[in-house]
Amino acid sequence: MNSSSRSISRVTTLIAGVIAVSLAVLIPAGYFAISYQYLIGSLDAQAEINARTVTVRVAANPEMWRFEEHRLMELMEQRPWEGVQEKRRILGQRDEVIVESLNPLRPPTVSRRQDIYDAGVPIAKVEVSRSLFPLLVKTGVVAVVAVLTGALVFVVLRILPLRAVRQAYQSLSESEVKYRSLYESMKEGMALFRINRDEHENLASFTVADINPACEVILGMGRDAALGRDGADILDGALVRHLPDIVKAISVGVSLTFEIQFTSVNRFFNVSVFSPEKELFATLFDDITERKWSEGQIQKLAYSDNLTGLPNRTLFFDRLNQALVQAGRNSAQIAVLFLDLDGFKVVNDTLGHASGDDLLLQVSQRLQRCVRSSDTLARLGGDEFVVLASYAGKELNIAHLAQNLLDKVSPAYFIAGRDIYTSVSIGVAIFPEDGRDAETLLRCADMAMYSAKEGGRNCYHFFSQGMNRKAHERMELETNLRLALERDEFFLEYQPIVAAGDGSIVAAEALIRWQHPDWGRTMPGDFIAIGEDSGLIVPLGEWVLRTACRKLKEWQQQGLAPLRLAVNVSGRQFAQRDFVDTVQKILSETGVDARFLELELTETSLMESADATVKTLLRLRELGLSIVIDDFGTGYSSLGYLKNFPIERLKIDRSFIADVCSNPSDRAIVEAIIAMAGKLGLRVVAEGVETAEQADCVHNCGCHEIQGYFFYRPLSEEQFLATVRFVPPSLVVTESLPLF
Ligand code: C2E
Ligand code: MG
Ligand code: MG
Repeated sequence: MNSSSRSISRVTTLIAGVIAVSLAVLIPAGYFAISYQYLIGSLDAQAEINARTVTVRVAANPEMWRFEEHRLMELMEQRPWEGVQEKRRILGQRDEVIVESLNPLRPPTVSRRQDIYDAGVPIAKVEVSRSLFPLLVKTGVVAVVAVLTGALVFVVLRILPLRAVRQAYQSLSESEVKYRSLYESMKEGMALFRINRDEHENLASFTVADINPACEVILGMGRDAALGRDGADILDGALVRHLPDIVKAISVGVSLTFEIQFTSVNRFFNVSVFSPEKELFATLFDDITERKWSEGQIQKLAYSDNLTGLPNRTLFFDRLNQALVQAGRNSAQIAVLFLDLDGFKVVNDTLGHASGDDLLLQVSQRLQRCVRSSDTLARLGGDEFVVLASYAGKELNIAHLAQNLLDKVSPAYFIAGRDIYTSVSIGVAIFPEDGRDAETLLRCADMAMYSAKEGGRNCYHFFSQGMNRKAHERMELETNLRLALERDEFFLEYQPIVAAGDGSIVAAEALIRWQHPDWGRTMPGDFIAIGEDSGLIVPLGEWVLRTACRKLKEWQQQGLAPLRLAVNVSGRQFAQRDFVDTVQKILSETGVDARFLELELTETSLMESADATVKTLLRLRELGLSIVIDDFGTGYSSLGYLKNFPIERLKIDRSFIADVCSNPSDRAIVEAIIAMAGKLGLRVVAEGVETAEQADCVHNCGCHEIQGYFFYRPLSEEQFLATVRFVPPSLVVTESLPLF
């Protein structure tokens, strides 16, 4: 027990003793005093009553009253209470006993007297006595009870509080031990700091008052070394930055929590501050490094692109939005450069996805080298990258950046053991001119990128309002295109294809037309590309194929000489998994003889996935139809693949035919194509022959068939049927059938 508990014990004993003794003494004393007073009063009253009674007797018989002993005795015997022992006497002037009740009293006794008068003169006295013994016995009993009560009170007042105090002390010391062991063993570091003030009561410094073992580990120093150290010197000064907040919080009695980084050991702590007493504050350091790290990892996963490690779309939008807020405030400008790799799909399809990924990675590394650290290069997905650049106000700077990006991307990449070339098309949108929000800017940059693609690729275009208008028109067109199929607004025209030798019609190409209710007759050049982009080309192409097959069957049933009908198939349509099934379904649905059907595919759509293409072509061929490569010479053909493709015909693009007579290079190309086709066993069609000279020329070069305005324009069904009926069927059959 310590000194304070001892002094509490002493005081408690004293107080309890005083109260107990007071109770033990005062209660019987009080009882006796009150009872005695009551007794005296009662004796006085009795004495007075008796004196008056006797005075009446005296007045009645002044001479002889003394001798009426019997009568006086009777008077003396009258009692107000039965059972109370009293002795009564009448005494003369010289205290001689005149008459006396016989009751003997147990000493000690108490007596009271009252004078008896005769004509106002006292002549005798009445004396009433009682024994004090019963009162003393009762007082004794009360005293015993009082002592017992006092003792009880003493016990209650002294022992119980002391026990409580002792228990409190015991549990206090127990909890102190508990808290101390907790303090010593807890994994969180705990430090106690003392706030030091100068003579003006201003905050001067804070020093370490205590630290627990966990805190020793955090600080990298023992308790003894830490005690008394300036708080500014520990944790690389991380705590001192929060000191004003700490002081403010403890002055209003609230706790405070914040995070700090202990840079030299690269750890993060959550710090809770509270004040156990004035000018002291405790800090609890919870190590949150792991959490921070996993948060960082999650952030990295959520905000960066897996392949390149660049910021992803989400982070890009975040940065762009932040940059827009800042630029709005500082009236600064921002440029968004949208980059799309040219011909990436071909690389991916021909060399495989691993090589495609490798290319993207290498491109991203090159792009990264052109971008300043303050700017953002992000990968939006696929082969699309975007650069967010703060814009110094001179378009030249951005043009310079765009050119730099183009230059960096174009040199060869060494992938899968060979050199690969690629380029990018870049669209640039500027804030605030082109858009004020992230979505608009990106959309504008995207449109500008498309314009760069259309402009020949490997170049950059700045966004213009014209592009915006074009985009709106495209959107409107797409909406209308969607409805056109339902409204049955499409129809086919048929352009005859003639034999080069005699000009007889050997085949025809079905060409789609759109009769729009407002725009009138719309040509495929205006909507096929949008159909491809939107995917609408798939149902549209199916409609064309079905209609063409139905017509061909119908015509054949009407007795038309058997001629081939060529149907254009778009790359997207051809790439559909179920393309062959669709063709087969249409063939059986219409009942057309597949030998009379030709599918025209461009080089590019055939090359998109060359291996798969061969398989698809073989399956198509199994159905009995033949394949023509359309617009030959404009796309990217690999002769190696061409050799493997089960195709029947090449259709030389009309761009070579236009100047075939006047331009020796074009003529050379046409001759080369025909020679190559000859070697591969392919037939050649010249397309876009508009003059007799061109017709002669291509015929002389060795073309087998000719298509062009010089012979026939695309014709309506009626015109076409009227035209072919004039042609003797024998010519058609002999020219065309050997090819099947
Ligand atoms: P294409 O398959 O090369 O079709 C030949 C195009 O050349 C047709 O244009 C035809 O009218 C045009 N043409 C034929 N002879 C001459 C000529 O002597 N001079 C000139 N200047 N042009 C000539 P059209 O009908 O406007 O079709 C353009 C392109 O649209 C087609 O080129 C084809 O790629 C595409 N197309 C047409 N119909 C369809 C279709 O049903 N499906 C798909 N996917 N594409 C189609
Ligand atoms: Mg065609
Ligand atoms: Mg063509």
